[in-house]
Amino acid sequence: MKKKVIIIAGPCAVESREQIIRIAKKLKQIGVDILRGGVFKPRTNPDSFQGLGEKGIEYLIEAKEVTGLPIVTELMSVEQVKKYADKIDIIQIGARNMYNYELLKELSKYDKPVLLKRGLSATYLEWINASKYITNGVNKRVILCERGIRSFDDSTRNVLDLQAVPYIKKNSNLPIFVDPSHAAGNNYMIYSMSLAAVAAGCDGLMIEVHDKPEEALSDKEQAITPDELKKIVDDIKKISEVIN
Ligand code: PEP
Ligand code: MN
Repeated sequence: MKKKVIIIAGPCAVESREQIIRIAKKLKQIGVDILRGGVFKPRTNPDSFQGLGEKGIEYLIEAKEVTGLPIVTELMSVEQVKKYADKIDIIQIGARNMYNYELLKELSKYDKPVLLKRGLSATYLEWINASKYITNGVNKRVILCERGIRSFDDSTRNVLDLQAVPYIKKNSNLPIFVDPSHAAGNNYMIYSMSLAAVAAGCDGLMIEVHDKPEEALSDKEQAITPDELKKIVDDIKKISEVIN
């Protein structure tokens, strides 16, 4: 039997205590492994919703207590890592911070899993080198996450580069996850891209899920519903059997 594909799911952003606990319960029922939710949001527009900050971390921890799901959230600065690393299970480093070497060096001091997203236009080598800033210290627990790269074609948010999966498998010992949500930017693409990522051999998926996508405060166009996620979770099992 092939090893299970790990599913990280949750809203782009923690929006309220009630929202994250409600969604976390639905995800737990579906069999999601890890709960995501941004509280420090690296938004392109400074006037967009910036996240709930520390309050958001408290709400994530409550959602973890209610459901038992481990939590992953993005941290954006050395100060945030010092303050919050102990409170969360996995630290996400966003695409925009893949080149922030001072931040990566700080992470090298902790024995704490880091989900390192690929930079928007980073080569595989730059990405692998970024991971070494972390693993050169005591921290050996890095997960790489392909999240789409910039292309000349702006019909979709980014382009999902699934060649990253076999490349990283061949050239690195780190697990490779795929985030189809930030690559596609459109919810109708998430099902097929998730199945394709599993067919390519990824170790896990990170998918943005909201139970009221039309009300989401960030990335609403790419959010899928818990029901849509359930279909992905069911169908990737069939793909895993075939590629084995
Ligand atoms: C996210 O996962 O919420 C996010 C902002 O992703 P990225 O850094 O890949 O844009
Ligand atoms: Mn998002």
